[in-house]
Amino acid sequence: MIKPFVFTPGPTEVRENVRMARAMEVTNPDIDESFYDFYKQTCDKIGEIIHTKNDVYILSGEGILGLEAACASLTEPDDRVLVIDNGIFGEGFGDFVKIYGGVPVYFSTDRTKEICIEELREFLKKDSNFKYATVVHCDTPSGVLNDISKICPLLKEHGIITVVDSVAAMVGEPLNVDDWKVDIALGGSQKAFSAPPGLTILSISKDAFEAMDNRKKSIVGFYSNLTIWRDYYSKKWFPYTMPISDIMGLRAAVDNIIDEGIETVLERHKKIAHATRGALREYGLSLYIKEGYSNTVTVVETPNNITANEIISYMLKSYNILISGSFGYLSNKVIRIGHMGENANTEKLIYILNSLDSTLKHLGFKSENCLVELFNKYY
Ligand SMILES: *Cc1c(COP(=O)(O)O)cnc(C)c1O
Repeated sequence: MIKPFVFTPGPTEVRENVRMARAMEVTNPDIDESFYDFYKQTCDKIGEIIHTKNDVYILSGEGILGLEAACASLTEPDDRVLVIDNGIFGEGFGDFVKIYGGVPVYFSTDRTKEICIEELREFLKKDSNFKYATVVHCDTPSGVLNDISKICPLLKEHGIITVVDSVAAMVGEPLNVDDWKVDIALGGSQKAFSAPPGLTILSISKDAFEAMDNRKKSIVGFYSNLTIWRDYYSKKWFPYTMPISDIMGLRAAVDNIIDEGIETVLERHKKIAHATRGALREYGLSLYIKEGYSNTVTVVETPNNITANEIISYMLKSYNILISGSFGYLSNKVIRIGHMGENANTEKLIYILNSLDSTLKHLGFKSENCLVELFNKYY
């Protein structure tokens, strides 16, 4: 198999030192106490990057595990849960709530725009009897970015616990967990961290743990029960054998981010995303989102008479580049360019935009412009 250049909004390209870290010889992570320190240091470093003093955990399982575990641990039968929905992942939280017996109440809005804070404020004035609320930071299928810095403090004013799916945003978008009052922040190894898929990252506040402790009925399930992690360090006991090689890879990825500096990393994402959007628009394409752009992914409507699948397969066949379409209501209507983590970098964007330019012109799209020149103009 020839590996293509991966420009999807996760998984992303993985740097060599991350791949090498995963190939190292390893100890027994259950018995060797030095691994507990290594694990905790890795969690603490992530805590620094996302600006929280809350406990951070790394769980063995892809990002979806974090979403399910948050819902499993918080939801009791008949609990009302506010599901803030302006995208596929946003709406999907409601399914986890239902699986665990809760009652999702959807706050559903226009999918081409970020959540409007004023509308949410008005909604909460009429109904705020929710145990917790779920919201997605960057809803990846459409690339919409929600303003967590305003949404979570507003929810907390009403005593609502906040669960944020930041899988596609964490370390690509600013995230100040403590200042923004995020009770559970969820991340995944394969998005802007640029490690391979397989790990969920969670920060959990005291309020969230308290809500779990105050349950009348016990949590259903074991892998999704977040309370089993709480004392791992003092007891030197993990609920199950940790995937040590995956964690060594993630640690290298986290160190890469710290070496560069989180602020520099975020600035890099912002500049790349700004230039990508500006270039695509002036080139003559339409962005799917109208307000609230994520700096980790750009979602572009396909031009008339050209389908997403045609673009994607031509790029793979002719340039060995893997970009992505979308799914659900966006299936075959848009293409998505992931520029998160290792992929938020000018040389890579120049390569992909140049190939996209040739692909579109080959498929009959007319533009006087050159995408790469436009990218440079906006960069
Ligand atoms: C990637 C992602 C997840 C994890 O889901 P997969 O589809 O299994 O990759 C969860 N939430 C968001 C917003 C994501 O982008």
